[in-house]
This record gives sequence, structure tokens and C-alpha cells, in this order.
Amino acid sequence: MISNRRIFHTNRVYVHSLGDYEYENVKQVVFDLLRKICLDNGMEECFFKDKKVAVKPNLLSKSAVERCVTTHPSFTRAACEYFVSLGAYVTVCDSPGGIYNKATFFAVGKETGTKEAAEKAGAVYNEDFGFEPCSNKEYSAYSFNIINPLREADVVVNLARLKTHALCEMTAAVKNLFGSIPGLQKAEQHARFPKKDAFANMLCDLCLINAPQINIVDAVVCMEGNGPSGGTLRKMGAVFGGADPFSVDLACSHVMGYSVDEVGTVRAARKRGLCPDSVLDLEIVGEQLDKYTCKFKRPDSNAGGIVKQIPSIFGGRLRDALERKPTVKKKKCVGCGICKNNCPVDAIKIDDGRANIDKTKCIRCYCCQEFCPKEAIEARNVFGA
Ligand code: SF4
Ligand code: SF4
Repeated sequence: MISNRRIFHTNRVYVHSLGDYEYENVKQVVFDLLRKICLDNGMEECFFKDKKVAVKPNLLSKSAVERCVTTHPSFTRAACEYFVSLGAYVTVCDSPGGIYNKATFFAVGKETGTKEAAEKAGAVYNEDFGFEPCSNKEYSAYSFNIINPLREADVVVNLARLKTHALCEMTAAVKNLFGSIPGLQKAEQHARFPKKDAFANMLCDLCLINAPQINIVDAVVCMEGNGPSGGTLRKMGAVFGGADPFSVDLACSHVMGYSVDEVGTVRAARKRGLCPDSVLDLEIVGEQLDKYTCKFKRPDSNAGGIVKQIPSIFGGRLRDALERKPTVKKKKCVGCGICKNNCPVDAIKIDDGRANIDKTKCIRCYCCQEFCPKEAIEARNVFGA
């Protein structure tokens, strides 16, 4: 069972400008946000003495800092430094793609600069790779295996990066908690919840069970297009924060130019009354959201336009047939098998050194595209576009 953490449900979202990742600049903004979020929610500085604080950046995969796939290490370092200075025991943790063990986690930490960031701040870079089932009947009918440092923490600090996402449209605070599930077990959740809405609801459940009390989204440089790993970079120069991950995500989806219905987790959260219905009902502290609002390029997997308008006739089979599906670009594929290992329904085979997708088995979770290190998987419709 997870500790007694609970999300502070509030519609207050803090918006800060931040032009670069220079450590002193990041530290100033992150310290300011942490102070405000904690004090506004009754967590005085003395509260943190001897508490276990888990800092959870987005450490999706072993990718270089400048690719902006993971939370920038300056954010992790600043958050760790803040809570270490208050006398907390701080652990940096996540479960990246692939097998959940020390070798993977340390390799990701080295490449992304996160391990060094944690150590510079006097925090521990997680070495406990255990997990246990957690549930909370108040929020969800399901039980999830959650990694130990998140399960055992008194306080969870959720440090996301703002990116588009092939399956979920957007990854920010709520989606970042998917990394609480150990390694390849994440694929099992895709098989368990193959429909987009069911998956988005599961992500809301998981976020509620993890109960991150502090949420900060690194939107200094974001990703658009084929996120969360193969997209293009887009500078926004902002940081979003709040005690409530659902309100923070509503604000994030707005600045990316999504309507309130487009992002699955925001749609699910609104339906469940977890966040306001409209961005106008958020209490914005700091800069105005519209200073940053623009239209992010959508992932190729987002069929958009006409396909979405097709009514659910023939049991939705027509719409299904016209929707884009993952396709391997044979010239780019090197046959490494990473996509195969992350496919939840065993729809990928490696034939003659190239990946091959069985479209009859595929549930369009886009894990293969997310983890392919060669950007060799794209979403194509029946016309090959
Ligand atoms: S992960 Fe990418 S490069 Fe590796 S086998 Fe799959 S498609 Fe090919
Ligand atoms: S082939 Fe790719 S999109 Fe299809 S189920 Fe497997 S990982 Fe998901």
C-alpha cells in the first residue's frame, strides 16, 4: 500500500518564464515555484525535515540532453537541492523503457545527465529496483505495481517535460506517472487498456494512486510532431507548476493549442471532475497562459480532420481501417529489436534484420515508435501517407 499521500486538488497553476537551461536561472525559477506550491498547500519548510522525497523526472530513454526527450537535468538538480537543503532524504527515481534494473537506470542517468545532477545536489540516484502492488479503491478498481521509491515516499515531486505524444496527444504531469510502473510491465498496461479512452482513464487512476503533491513541467524547450521521442524541438520558454497535476495539464494542453477534448487524460480528468471544465476556470498565478499559447504540430498518428468525423458505423470498422497505423521505414531500421521488446501484444517480428509489424495484432499504442532509437517507425494511413 502506498503512503498516506493525497493530491491537493486545486485549480491554481503557476506560470513562469524561463529562457534557458543555465543552472542558476533554472534554480531561481524552480526554487520560487517550489516555495509557492509548498506554502500555498500547507507544507512549511520544517515539514520536510527527515521526510522521504522522491523526485520523478521524465527519463524515458537513454537520450542525450540536447534531444530534449527527458526532463532537463538542471530541473532535477534544482528540485533535489531545494529539498536536501530542508533536511529531506531525496531520491531521484523513474522507470525508463526497457528492463527495470540498475544497468538500464544508470545508463539512462549517465546519458541524460540526471545521475550527475542528483549527485551534485546531494540526492540519491535510486538503487532499489523493487516494486509492489498498490491500489486505492477510492480512485480505481485496478491495482498497479509501483516502484519502491515512489511507493515509500512521503512527498512526490513530479518533474515532467512538455511534449506531444503519439498515443496520448500530450505528455506532461499526468502521463509522467506512467513511469511509476516497472519496466516492461508498462507494455502490459497497453494490452490491458488497448482503447485510447480506457488508457487515459488508467493514467488518471495511476496519477491519483501515486498522488504527486508537487508538479513542475519543463516547457523551456518542448517537443512537437512525433513525440515523445522522435519529434522536433520547439522553444516555449516557460515553466508550469502546481499542486494538482490535472489542472497543470489542462493549462499545458491549452498552450499547445489543443481543445479541452483533444487530450485523452484531460478529457478523462474533466469528465471525472478532477480538473475544471475550462481553462478559464483555472487560477493562473504569474505570467498569462496566452503569452505562450500556440499550435503545436500534432503527431502523425493523430488522424485529425476527416477521419475523426466519420461516425461509428459498421462498429467503427471504417474509421478503424482509415486511421493511421505504425509502419516500419525499412531503410532506417537496423533490426535492433527494441520495438519488439516493447510491443505489448507481440505484433512485431524481426525478419532479415528488419522489423515487421503484424497489423492484425497491433493495438496502435505507438510504443514501438516511442522507443525506436532510429526513428524508423512512422504512422501511415491506407494510402501510404
Ligand atoms: S526499434 Fe527501430 S531500428 Fe530497432 S528493430 Fe524496431 S524499427 Fe528497427
Ligand atoms: S506494433 Fe507498435 S503500435 Fe502496434 S501494438 Fe506493437 S508496439 Fe503498439
